[in-house]
Amino acid sequence: MVRKGYRYITLLLCVGMLLGLTACGKRVTKFNNASVSMGTVISQTVYMSVTGFGATDAGNTAMADINEILAQIDETYSWRKDTARIAKINAAATAGEEGSLTAEQAREFQILLDLCKQTDGAFDISLGALTRLWDIDSKATGQPAGQLTGQEAGQASGREEAEQAALMVPSETEIRQALLDCGYEKIEIRGKTAGNTEVDSQEEQTIYLPQGMSLDLGAVAKGIASNQVMEYLHENPNVHGAVISLGGNIITYGDRGDGSSWNVGIVNPLDPDTNIGYLTLKGSHMVITSGDYERFFETGGQRYHHILDPETGYPADAGIKSVTIWCQDGIVGDALSTACFVVGTERALELAEQYEVEILIVAEDGKLVMSEGMKKVLTVQ
Ligand code: AMP
Ligand code: MG
Repeated sequence: MVRKGYRYITLLLCVGMLLGLTACGKRVTKFNNASVSMGTVISQTVYMSVTGFGATDAGNTAMADINEILAQIDETYSWRKDTARIAKINAAATAGEEGSLTAEQAREFQILLDLCKQTDGAFDISLGALTRLWDIDSKATGQPAGQLTGQEAGQASGREEAEQAALMVPSETEIRQALLDCGYEKIEIRGKTAGNTEVDSQEEQTIYLPQGMSLDLGAVAKGIASNQVMEYLHENPNVHGAVISLGGNIITYGDRGDGSSWNVGIVNPLDPDTNIGYLTLKGSHMVITSGDYERFFETGGQRYHHILDPETGYPADAGIKSVTIWCQDGIVGDALSTACFVVGTERALELAEQYEVEILIVAEDGKLVMSEGMKKVLTVQ
């Protein structure tokens, strides 16, 4: 979940404050903050309904609270941090033992396992063996060799040999072997909440994975974080509006004090420095995107990206460049963005309908395919 070099770093790039009196006469104070957490750049713009001397404290507190929520999520859902619960569950499985979950996490796992099932395993939380084998996060340059600047290209050529060795594509045998250790169906939640998301038990539950299997919740960790951040925004009476970006996950809440809408930009996966357009949304929403431009490496003229097809063990190749889900629930949206990327356009539209979310797909040829609701909010630039 956390890219090398970013671990434990929360870098405040900018904190700003601006007093404003809006058209409706609602005074708000705007704060901006950028940081790095969960292996991605987090940017926050928060509109506090506090003005004057108390505003700075209120704004800084809100943004620090949100950073703390993200840090806690990383501490829980990372498989890379030995102390994280997911890493401990994986370690327990290696030792042939059960892992433990809080009651709340057990309920969350039931939801995740159901999403695995409903997507016919296109979204699968048990792919740790496969994602580690590919290790795309460490190999990812983040941009194709052709897009390197002159200076970067010079440095790159010096490192070429070492890099080529590092960019090895796993062999078919290795992939087949890793797939044997994957498969969400083999996961069991054992305890009072097992099979029942309604039970209000506070007891710790246990989770069983077969030896060799390991969890990778990279596809939904930011979605889980989005839900918690949204809950925080709703509960904080001082927050009037906010737009928060966790990498590919955007959260909007309330408004700027003037009742205006949010414009959420959608990256053009064929040219990630540009947008294909934006969604115009009022109030609280989540906009979650999975794309092949986010993390990948290229070797032999082929791009190997980070969204894997659990059926083949290779990066998904369903003719899609990116999938954006507009939804109200971060877990569902994040799981679906990944799953829809894997299953291809036709099935993706069915899944979006089943889960009552709106979807925008950018196909390999740049064609846009979207649900009816999405058409109403998308402006193509
Ligand atoms: P996202 O960018 O949200 O689509 O999530 C991609 C991340 O989830 C990858 O970096 C892997 O850690 C993990 N992952 C890759 N393929 C899958 C998949 N088919 N199902 C679940 N998780 C996946
Ligand atoms: Mg996802």
